[in-house]
Order: sequence, then structure tokens, then C-alpha cells
Amino acid sequence: MLSSRVSEKRTTAKPQELQKAAPVKGHPPMTTYREFHRRSIESPEDFWREQANRIHWETRFETVLDRSNPPFSRWFVGGRTNLCHNAVDRHLAERAQQNALIYVSTETGIERQYTYAELHAEVNRMAAVMRSLGVKRSDRVLIYLPMIPEAVFAMLACARLGAIHSVVFGGFAAPNLAARIDDAKPVLIVTADAGARAGKVIDYTPLVDEAMSRATHKTPHVLLIDRQLTPERLNAPYLVAYEPLREQFFDVHVQCEWLESTEPSYVLYTSGTTGKPKGVQRDVGGYAVALAASMEYIFQGKPADTMFTASDVGWVVGHSYIVYAPLIAGLTTVMYEGTPIRPDGGIWWRLVEQYKINLMFTAPTAIRVLKKQDPALLKQADLSSLRTLFLAGEPLDEPTASWIADSLGKPVVDNFWQTETGWPILAIQRGVEALPQKLGSPGVPCYGYDLTLRNENTGEPCPPGEKGVITLGYPLPPGCMSTVWGDDARFVKTYWESVPNQQVYSTFDWGIQDEDGYVTILGRTDDVINVAGHRLGTREIEEALSSHKAVAEVAVVGVTDQVKGQAAIAFVVVRDAAAYDSDDARAKLSADLCATVDRQLGAIARPAQVALVSMLPKTRSGKLLRRAIAALAEGRDPGDLPTIEDPSALQQIRDAVALGFGTRGG
Ligand code: AMP
Repeated sequence: MLSSRVSEKRTTAKPQELQKAAPVKGHPPMTTYREFHRRSIESPEDFWREQANRIHWETRFETVLDRSNPPFSRWFVGGRTNLCHNAVDRHLAERAQQNALIYVSTETGIERQYTYAELHAEVNRMAAVMRSLGVKRSDRVLIYLPMIPEAVFAMLACARLGAIHSVVFGGFAAPNLAARIDDAKPVLIVTADAGARAGKVIDYTPLVDEAMSRATHKTPHVLLIDRQLTPERLNAPYLVAYEPLREQFFDVHVQCEWLESTEPSYVLYTSGTTGKPKGVQRDVGGYAVALAASMEYIFQGKPADTMFTASDVGWVVGHSYIVYAPLIAGLTTVMYEGTPIRPDGGIWWRLVEQYKINLMFTAPTAIRVLKKQDPALLKQADLSSLRTLFLAGEPLDEPTASWIADSLGKPVVDNFWQTETGWPILAIQRGVEALPQKLGSPGVPCYGYDLTLRNENTGEPCPPGEKGVITLGYPLPPGCMSTVWGDDARFVKTYWESVPNQQVYSTFDWGIQDEDGYVTILGRTDDVINVAGHRLGTREIEEALSSHKAVAEVAVVGVTDQVKGQAAIAFVVVRDAAAYDSDDARAKLSADLCATVDRQLGAIARPAQVALVSMLPKTRSGKLLRRAIAALAEGRDPGDLPTIEDPSALQQIRDAVALGFGTRGG
């Protein structure tokens, strides 16, 4: 295992005086949500100028907001700052001995704690190692790591050097990784020998090796964190072992690079309508300010609190609420490798007791999984430290919301947002005003977001109670994506030109808003599905399936799943139907198709069911009727349909559903 000089376990948290966030002028304590939100929309410059006091600026900005080139917005122009300084160095004076990071892996049994001083040292070592491998300001570093502390060190080390990190979720397969390498063109990849999930070790180096050979861009070095989890050893010339370099640079201090506020801090790829993932690019200063503000107004996290965000650093929730926000706000963040039910369904609650966790954040899927466990496990732990549970990433169904709120006896705060926005769009902002919750709704628009539901055909605002596309007006608040990496035109076209007659940002979510402003989410307007809180593009899955030689055509849709929220279902037309007329042949094909998806995208994208049909429902112009297929797959009425090329195709989908789809996937 990695040698580490980290602190001994402490059983009790050190009593520490809770520090108030830097006072923000103009926010009288009695401000109501409505006034607060209105001011953020009517006077964004004044509003965000005040919020900007929450972070350290090496050079104060000259202009709060540059709106000269809509729909682009540039926040805090002329300001120079650094995310790593704000997350780590800035706290050394007051909280060097407070834990910054608590790491728990139920996969390996390792638990470690890093004070801010120790985190600072580790980040400096990582930054020195990266620098020795040629990484410098504005270079890209691709981080393909499991949930280990080095993932946090690597992200912060990039921020320190001014390099742009692109974290790729460890569950993604080699072709996925290759596509991201070719888009980001990194100078360095940081990886580990293996990840672990539910007791299964997944070798990473063969995946990286395959991705390296598939990618056109040649990355000079791959830095390897050796967890000694696997005997599999690659001996590729580009591999550089981290541990000897870490020892070599053990005491080196690397200066923080002061970056322009608008420079890119990271690129995080996310799925959309096309098969090609988009690199969501974020800035430095706007992101830091937005996260710091969200910790007060939405998450109510105070310095020295402990926050446990059970997500993955490969997702936006991990970027914002495992790494940057809690550290910027001086909290202790808990990083967890494992599932919520191993060794048993009480593990997360025991962590709350053991580490006196105050704030918890996860996805509804995890709660649905925990709901199936013995309820006694929840009651056995002392949860008195816990103040609030936050849930995001997918719709929170009412039974799950009620169950967890009743079981915990604590507020449960649903919040709606996206990789693109970096922090919540909708939530009850208890740090502003503790408005009542309404079951089934994540709440009201967060300050900074000029949210309007619009008619998909006319672009006109919808009256309360009418379903519409959730849109955001210009400018987006700080912290939201600045552009699509390397493709400004795609940013404009995808996000700002999809609502008729209006230049507004589309979330690609349907919603409905009530008289009080509460919004309920009604699913995506595009071909994105949400499986266990993971956003997947059905087009990507279709492309993977189409690469199988037996497949002529395929449609992938999402259907409701009791635990995962949604599951992907594939309707496949094969080239040679006669070859698949036996159950055995169909079962083998289904397994093959699932394996193809595993190899190309990763097991998270594997369809839950594969059904063979002889044709797919299409319009006369050949457009696939996805919404109709999705409705039929869920046993719903597909509603009004355009003229269909061959109506019997609809019947085939109905028959496949009635037969339980025929073959089961993963
Ligand atoms: P991602 O970019 O992976 O975070 O996925 C964002 C998408 O997840 C949103 O566009 C929604 O479709 C969905 N989503 C996120 N949070 C919620 C929520 N609280 N309720 C309903 N859907 C959500």
C-alpha cells in the first residue's frame, strides 16, 4: 500500500469555534427568499460582487460581469485567484490541524484522515511530481482514478499549477476514455492499478493501455498510483510510478499559479443528444464564488462541519461537493469508496456516528437501495450530528422522500441541477429562508437563476400548472459552464438555440411550476436517460450496439425502474432474423450485445433488457419515434403520433413488452 504519513484516527472532533463565512454586505439576516432571488436577477453585478468577498483574490477583479458577447458571460474579469489556494492554503492559518479529508474504503478496509496541513503537503507533492513530468498552466491532465485520496490530490494539484483537469469516471470503458483523450489532448494521464466495486477488482491499466492505442492523440506520460490491488502489471514505456516520485518531491513547495478568473479550471464530459460527449468547461473565479455561496445558502455548511457526499469524483456532484465546495468553505469532507450496503446496509449510518457527520449528500437511488435493508440498521447508529440530507441527480419519488425523512427525522433537501450548472438550480435554500418542502418538487429557483418554463413550440412562458421546458435566462450565474471545450459554436447551438424564438439556456428538462414557484421535474426533453443517478445518452448506447455485426438498427429508450429510477431498454433489428429464431441464439446475442456495451462504454450503460423486433416505428421521413417507443415500453399510451411508415412496428414493441422483452440484459 502507499506509504502515508497521515494522522492517527481521532475519536472525537476537536471543539472548535464555528467561524462565520466572510460577512457579505447587503444581505440583511431577515431577507426573504423572494427578495433575495429578485435582487440576484435584477442586479446580478451587485449581488455577485458581494458574494465574491467569500474567496481570496490575489488581484481584485475590475468588472463583475462582462456581457459583451452573449450568450457567453465572463465573471469577475481582471480578477486573479486560484482554486487550490482557496480550498487548501487559505485555511492553513486557522485550521491546519483540522481534518480536511477523511477517506474510508470498505473495499480495501483503509481509513485515513488528512488535516489541512497534511492535505497541503500531499497536494504539493502531487503538483511537484506533475510539474516534473512537464505539466504547466493550461495543459490538460486526464484523471482516471477510483475513489482514492490521490484523486483529490491530483485535482487540487492541477488547480495549483493552473493545469486543466478532466476527470473521467473510473467505470468508463477504453473507447470512452480514448474519445476523451482525443478531445482534451492531455499531457498527462493519472491512473491507478485498479479500482474496486462490491468486492470485485477492476484492472485499470489494460483499459488505459487500450485507450492510449485507440486515441490519435499521444499522451506522453501516464502516472500510476499503485494500490497493489492487482498482480496484473503493465510494462508500457509511458508508465511512471507515482510513489518514488512522491518520495523524491516529499518536501517541495509549489507556488499556486494565480489564474485569470475566466481561465478554464476543468473540463468534465457529459452525455447529450448526440453520441459525442460534450466537454463542460468551467472557469476559476466564478466557480469558487458560486460554490462558496452555495455552502451558506443551500447546504448551510460551516467551517469545521463534516460533509459526506456519497458520489464519485468522476461526476459533477463529486467535483463540487466532495472536493471543491466543502474545502473552500473550510469543512471536513468525507470520501467513500464502496457501496452503501457492504459490509451491510448500516455502513453509512455508522460513518455518520463515527465521524460526527453533519451534512450528507447522495442520489435517491442510494436511498432506494437502503430502504430495502433492515430498518433496524438505521436506528442502531447515533445520528444526532446529522443536520440535513441532500439528494440530487435524478427525480426523488415521494415514497422514498417520505421514508427517509421519517426514518431520519431530519430535513431532506432535494436539489435539481446538472453537470453544466455545477451547483443547484432548484432547491429550498434554507440558508436564505426555510420555505416549506413540497413532496415531489425539488423546490424553487436558486438565487442567480432566471428560470422560466417555456412552451416547446412557441418559446412563450407557460402559466403556472402548465408543462414546459425549464429554461434559464442570460446571464447564467457564476459557476455554470463557460463553454463546450474547444467548441464555442456547439455551446451556443446546443444550449442557447433549442427553444424557438428565444435566446435562453435549455436544461432539456420538462417541468411544471405551481403558483408558489415550486417546480416539479417531469423528465428530459432529449434522449438522455438517468440510470441510478448516472446520465447516459441513449444515442451513445445505440452507437455501441450498432457496432455489433449482427445489428441492423437499434433504438434505446429509458423505462421506469423501481430502484435505479430508469433502466435502458434496447429494441434491436438484426440483419439476419433467421439466425436468431431459437431462444438460445437470442439469449447468446443478448449477452454478446451487453458485452459490447460493457467494452465500449462501461457496465453502467449496459441495457437492462434487449428485445428483438423486425422493424422500428418511424415517421415517413425515417425519424425514429423514440418518445412513442419509450411510452409503449412503459405500457403507456404513446398519445398523438405522426404518420408512421408501418404501424405494425408499434405492435411489435407492444408485443415485446407483453412478453417481458424476450431476453434479459445486465
Ligand atoms: P447530470 O448532469 O449527470 O448531473 O444530470 C443532470 C440531469 O439529471 C438533469 O438534467 C435532470 O434530468 C436530472 N436531475 C438532476 N437532479 C434532479 C432532481 N433533483 N430531480 C429530478 N431530476 C434531476
